[in-house]
Amino acid sequence: MDKKLIYFDHAASTPMDIRVLDVMRGVAKDVFGNPSSVHEAGRRARVVLEDARRSIARYLQVTPAEVFFTSGGTEANNAILWGCARDLGYKHFITSPLEHPAVLKPLEAIQEQQNIQIHMVKVDALGHVDLDHLDDLLQKHQRAVVSLMHANNETGTLLPVKAISKRCQDHGALFHSDTVQTMAKFGMNLRDPHIDFAVASAHKFHGPKGVGFMVIRPGNFFKPYVLGGGQERNMRAGTENLHGIIGMAEALKLAHERMEADQQHILSLKKTCMEELLGRLPGVSFNGDASGSSLHTILNLTLPAVIDPDMLLPRLDMEGICVSSGSACASGTTKGSHVLKALGVDLQRPSLRISFSRYNTLDEVQQLVDVLVKVSG
Ligand code: PLP
Repeated sequence: MDKKLIYFDHAASTPMDIRVLDVMRGVAKDVFGNPSSVHEAGRRARVVLEDARRSIARYLQVTPAEVFFTSGGTEANNAILWGCARDLGYKHFITSPLEHPAVLKPLEAIQEQQNIQIHMVKVDALGHVDLDHLDDLLQKHQRAVVSLMHANNETGTLLPVKAISKRCQDHGALFHSDTVQTMAKFGMNLRDPHIDFAVASAHKFHGPKGVGFMVIRPGNFFKPYVLGGGQERNMRAGTENLHGIIGMAEALKLAHERMEADQQHILSLKKTCMEELLGRLPGVSFNGDASGSSLHTILNLTLPAVIDPDMLLPRLDMEGICVSSGSACASGTTKGSHVLKALGVDLQRPSLRISFSRYNTLDEVQQLVDVLVKVSG
């Protein structure tokens, strides 16, 4: 029999909700037409597809015409940044050194191929953006795109969205926020505070992998970026991932139905975890703004320098505990984390990211703490 895993890596991916799976199974079985076909089977698929779009749009308080389905967060971020540079003619991109590679890498590539400048806004040791520096950058570079993530995927530090949005509006800048980690964790109204571009990835909120969406506010539509069909209002050609999209819409709905209860449950797990660690593991420290403005699902910590940083995750894995040390490309070793590096965390000490979901229990937190104490002994 498989060993029971204790899973604390929900910022990397989440188990699908069984109700999502049920809905997807039903669609995969019964709604097999191509949404672009004009016959009855196609029309049924089209209705299901557009219902999902409407449902998603409603939760974000935008119109369905602003929602474009993608393969996930990486594609959405890439499409938006390229679209701003290539089609909308933006030359100045203001971002931070703490962004996900799905933002930093396309920006580097765009800089190589288009005439754009990237301006890094300063961040403090907790991972908060220096608003005065952002003001300076916006003042100096008119008609900029500001790309700042809503919650950092490694530390959970939250962006003051209202303050950033106001500054962007005051300076005529576009505001793109990588909302992959916060979508379905909070109620979001993309009109207030105004966000021009937001993105989502269904597998981060108990939906299927390989499907997501981007929201593009009116006036910012860029040119089609996948050619060969009229899908997604010509923006992204290709037959839609219908059952994936339906699963995503269902996952978003379920998240909204139980949002407050989930927030409270997950926050209490995070707080207990912090208290227990502080009480039992002298020398532990938390990275980011863990007890301040931080996403309830993410906790990043550094342990005393007893265990080799490269050995920590394999050691926890041997105990059946799944955690990571950051984004997928840095998940095997804390030494690879550009985020912790930028925050000045001592990379010679072992760090890890614990990320919770509604499925975690207090008992699992206790087991995790027991193991962390053991490996640090
Ligand atoms: N942006 C952030 C902040 C993320 O945490 C992730 C996934 O880890 C992504 C983008 C990429 O999303 P996807 O897995 O849908 O490509």
